Amino acid sequence: MNGQVVKRVVVAGGGSAGWMAAAALSRQLGPLLDIVLVESDEIGTVGVGESTVPTARTFNALLNLDEAEFMAATQATFKLGISFENWGEIGDRYIHSFGQIGKSTWLGHFHHFWLQAKAQGFGGDLGDYCLELKAAEQHRFHTDDNSPLNYAYHIDATLYGRYLRGKCEDKGVRRVEGKIVDVRQRSDDGFIEALVLESGEVIEGDLFIDCTGFRGLLINGALGVGFEDWGRWLPNDRAWAVQTSTDVGPGPYTRAIAHKAGWLWGIPLQRRVGNGLVFSSQFMSDEDGLRQLEQMIEGEMLIDPKLIRFCAGRRHKAWSKNCVSLGLAAGFIEPLESTSIHMIMIAIHRLLQLFPFQGCTEALSDRFNNLADDEILKIRDFIVLHYNVTERTDSPYWDHVRTTEVPDTLAHRLALFRESGHVFQAPGELFQVDSWLQVMLGQRLQPRAHHHMGRLMPPEQLRGALTDLKGNIASAVERMPTHQAFIDRYCPSPA
Ligand SMILES: Cc1cc2nc3c(=O)[nH]c(=O)nc-3n(C[C@H](O)[C@H](O)[C@H](O)COP(=O)(O)OP(=O)(O)OC[C@H]3O[C@@H](n4cnc5c(N)ncnc54)[C@H](O)[C@@H]3O)c2cc1C
Repeated sequence: MNGQVVKRVVVAGGGSAGWMAAAALSRQLGPLLDIVLVESDEIGTVGVGESTVPTARTFNALLNLDEAEFMAATQATFKLGISFENWGEIGDRYIHSFGQIGKSTWLGHFHHFWLQAKAQGFGGDLGDYCLELKAAEQHRFHTDDNSPLNYAYHIDATLYGRYLRGKCEDKGVRRVEGKIVDVRQRSDDGFIEALVLESGEVIEGDLFIDCTGFRGLLINGALGVGFEDWGRWLPNDRAWAVQTSTDVGPGPYTRAIAHKAGWLWGIPLQRRVGNGLVFSSQFMSDEDGLRQLEQMIEGEMLIDPKLIRFCAGRRHKAWSKNCVSLGLAAGFIEPLESTSIHMIMIAIHRLLQLFPFQGCTEALSDRFNNLADDEILKIRDFIVLHYNVTERTDSPYWDHVRTTEVPDTLAHRLALFRESGHVFQAPGELFQVDSWLQVMLGQRLQPRAHHHMGRLMPPEQLRGALTDLKGNIASAVERMPTHQAFIDRYCPSPA
């Protein structure tokens, strides 16, 4: 009973998902496992995936990375949120920050106080009560052991893979370069036995981690696990990605600028900006998408734009038999809100916790898959929210996304907020109340009512409390250095 059945782990694919999995497994369970990673330079990686959410810091802690070293090695900048431009209506701008807004009480969330103040004619912007949001607006940043700022990173995807590879090799992970041309399965139960490379080399294993990107060579190609397509809610299926030069200091936020058939991302790194025009092929041709990209980007293009095709959805089972799929092989919602790397991190964490030392069983894979399903469905709803709650009527694309029926789970959240101003974070959900709130209000959804907790205070007391909160935040932001000055001191990337 105490013997270990699963010892040889084979990671197929060396994009971010593959190296992240190999790094975490070797760091946390290294002495118990033999880890091999197979990748093909000829096939390459998707080469995007540069904006993260704050769980990236937890993952870095799991790998015991030094933050300044990691940031210098990946040309990273800090991220306090996302600036959404032209989403509620053309000309609108709001920041979805990672911060907490105001101070909540056991009776309810802070925004009910703020809604009461607004009803009485004061209160200002909700963002005035959020440290991260105000710091982002003013391009300021500071962190140390006592800093309250909640933040994530912008990273260079290729440098990230290279950096993690170095960490893996230090921990004894064996890298094999080569193209996988066949997946050998046991005849009795279909479990994967080995990967066969073009060179003829055979890589045997007990557990296979499919990180081969959209193709899902093992989970789909060999095991035939299908894909649930979410295109009816999320029709974007193309991106033109390009890197541009920059001569302005990076803002501590990702930009998401809506256009007539999708949106453009702008991810500021220390020496360049990553850009991508996301669009739906139902509403824009590839050629028009390229023209739209050229019109919207700032700075000189450093490489030729690359067209990436994708499909929003998820693998029916991320873990099947002795194969666990991670990253794009397991599913992809779309890049808005930068959740894909987060889902890889959480899935790796789950795999570490549920590691099948005694063999892969249905009970283990069911548990893994149920947790993954629960998480991705809530993220999907949050992303759909951005397309549904808009007043844009200027193109067939916006008419389509605005009027498409949303999943029931999202319809319930929207009705709850419209009727009563209530917002909730479900158990295990990534996005917190303040995230839902910032996007709903930022895209012009106003509740018809709110909790009356603010009426328990005389208006002058409420006004005083809000003024104090705002003032404290404004002076904390004023004391911070600029984002650029902080990077220059803390984690400059070598030229
Ligand atoms: C347009 C777009 C924008 C995105 N933006 C973000 C973002 O801002 N934030 C975020 O969190 N995520 C983002 N993502 C998702 C993110 O890019 C991925 O989650 C992340 O890069 C992981 O990719 P991967 O490792 O699964 O796949 P890939 O990078 O495609 O890697 C696949 C690996 O498998 C190898 N491989 C494939 N076939 C074979 C074979 N036959 N033999 C050997 N090796 C093989 C390849 O060589 C490669 O090493 C974005 C994705 C897209 C499409």
